[in-house]
Amino acid sequence: MTAVLDGTALGRWVEIALPDAPWGRPVPFVGYVYMDWEAGMSAKGGPADRPDDPPSLTVRLPIGAPSRVLDAAEVGTRETPPAWVAHFGPQPPVDAPWRRDPLLRGRWHKQFPDDLQVLVHDGEPRRTQRAAEGCWVRVDASEPAPARPSATADGVAIARSPVVYVGTLLNQPHKLTTLAQGDRVRFVPDPGGRHPLMVTAAYLAERAAWSIAPCPRCGLGEGLDPPSVMAATRFPQAEGAVEGFTAHCATCGPPSALTFSRIAPA
Ligand SMILES: [Zn+2]
Repeated sequence: MTAVLDGTALGRWVEIALPDAPWGRPVPFVGYVYMDWEAGMSAKGGPADRPDDPPSLTVRLPIGAPSRVLDAAEVGTRETPPAWVAHFGPQPPVDAPWRRDPLLRGRWHKQFPDDLQVLVHDGEPRRTQRAAEGCWVRVDASEPAPARPSATADGVAIARSPVVYVGTLLNQPHKLTTLAQGDRVRFVPDPGGRHPLMVTAAYLAERAAWSIAPCPRCGLGEGLDPPSVMAATRFPQAEGAVEGFTAHCATCGPPSALTFSRIAPA
């Protein structure tokens, strides 16, 4: 048995070896894992040997008791999802890819396992005068995205994730002016640095055309504005396309810098 159930158990039947089950017999708990949007991820069920009884116990997850997900044979005739789940409102998707993405492992809220902190922003602080903020996002979708052809100091290419995740901003940013609680945001799971990073459609449209040597201090290898906008911020008088520039790291500040290089014609 695994020690703790995470979001990958949502929508599944699980067995938990409860240390003090109320039925007083050495029989584990079996319950269906669902989202209670007030109390967090929960399992509702009863003793493993009474699969046809109505649920008699609710367990808030995660719980520090040996737990595991049942396979199809073990689920047997149990209704999936059980009819009572409708009482708890719309449920998150089963088997969502973001819950299994190793790039996001350890970042999820324990009780609300589709929620994580994302670095959100109005664009590059040098242009906007407003710093990026860490905000909670509830993820509900994934989309393909152009991969980042990145580069290290010695020129080795690193392809960053060809996927973005999409979700709802759960809290109101303190100082940002382009984002509000409830907005839909996209983010890349592996920008380097300390948090997943919000991106815009304009940013993704330029992603495949530039390589970025990441910040040597925190590893951030993405910008906060599209590179063409960052170039215009630095060289407003430039004639023709800018082929490359450096930018101070958005989270570490100077002297840490990223190097942007155009690899496709403007
Ligand atoms: Zn940095």
